[in-house]
Amino acid sequence: MHWLEATPDEIAAFMRDAGQPAFRAKQALGWLHGKRVARFDDMVNLPAALRSAMASVGRLRALHELERRDADDGLTAKWLFRGDAEEDLVESVLIVEKRRTRRTVCVSCMIGCPLACAFCATGQGGFGRNLAAGEIIEQAYAADAQARAQGDGGLTHVVFMGMGEPLLTLDAVLRAADTFADPTGLGLSGRHITISTAGVPDGIRRLAESGRTYRLALSLHAADQRVREKIMPIAKRHPLPEVITALEKFAETASRDITFEYCLMKGVNDSLDDARRVAALTKPFGGRVNLIPMNGVAGAAYTPPSPSAIRRFQEELEQAGLSAPVRMEKGADIGAACGQLRAERRGR
Ligand code: SAH
Repeated sequence: MHWLEATPDEIAAFMRDAGQPAFRAKQALGWLHGKRVARFDDMVNLPAALRSAMASVGRLRALHELERRDADDGLTAKWLFRGDAEEDLVESVLIVEKRRTRRTVCVSCMIGCPLACAFCATGQGGFGRNLAAGEIIEQAYAADAQARAQGDGGLTHVVFMGMGEPLLTLDAVLRAADTFADPTGLGLSGRHITISTAGVPDGIRRLAESGRTYRLALSLHAADQRVREKIMPIAKRHPLPEVITALEKFAETASRDITFEYCLMKGVNDSLDDARRVAALTKPFGGRVNLIPMNGVAGAAYTPPSPSAIRRFQEELEQAGLSAPVRMEKGADIGAACGQLRAERRGR
């Protein structure tokens, strides 16, 4: 068990079972999430016997930092962590926007990813295992500490857009997200926590029914089923119509807009016909499409379109009444795209 993923109720139950007074739960929460101590011995107002009892059932840290790279004058930082096993490599990124008011961490929920999207460095690296919620929380706390150390204040947003498919490990993802939303954790509004999926209909339905207010993003990448299944193998198992039905259910149950991510790849999904299909598909869901020019993954056969082709694609969406910002890649010089640091380390 990882203590960072224990809910306040679970901590209270642990204290009760240990014959401790109720205020111990509050004290423990303060050490775990307030001070975020890494050693049980630092929990100085808890009796030594209680500290050992806590240590015997769970741990405080599972990841250790192998590497941190900074870029963009400290606006981007990228971590590579290691879990228990040598091949347990985990990446996360802190992205501070220019005015420094928006401070986002991009966390991984898996080591590697089983979906094997053709253009994605993580997918090409294969699947290791799901991360525990505590391991996801550790990534966010590292970024939160870094943002604070830079004098900017803590995180304002969390996105599940690192390695892995959140909707295939939804229990751990919700447990972590709930901690980010809890005032004793990061205290973020649910709207500032985004779960991004390649399109897992069951998971979309479960998220809708969970009663949470987290935002949902769909990695669309193609509005044409044939193109989509070429670059995203999961689209064969869950074709677009099935995904869209699940999105409709989500939009209705949660009464919320959905954001679409569209990675632009030259000659694959960047024609004006593609843009028209994207507009038609996304408009009913609020019409926000983030355009991400494909960034280089060594060995992949995909490249970004020219700047003018990107602009034409964007204009086509805007003419249809959509909001379609082009997301310029942050931290390109430190390999900040998903899965790149891990790939680099394994290649050594
Ligand atoms: N599995 C989830 C979350 C992880 S991917 C999902 O698919 O949404 C996070 C985002 O990065 C996705 O939109 C993904 O398609 C995108 N991405 C992956 N590789 C990329 C690349 N080489 N260039 C640009 N975006 C990429």
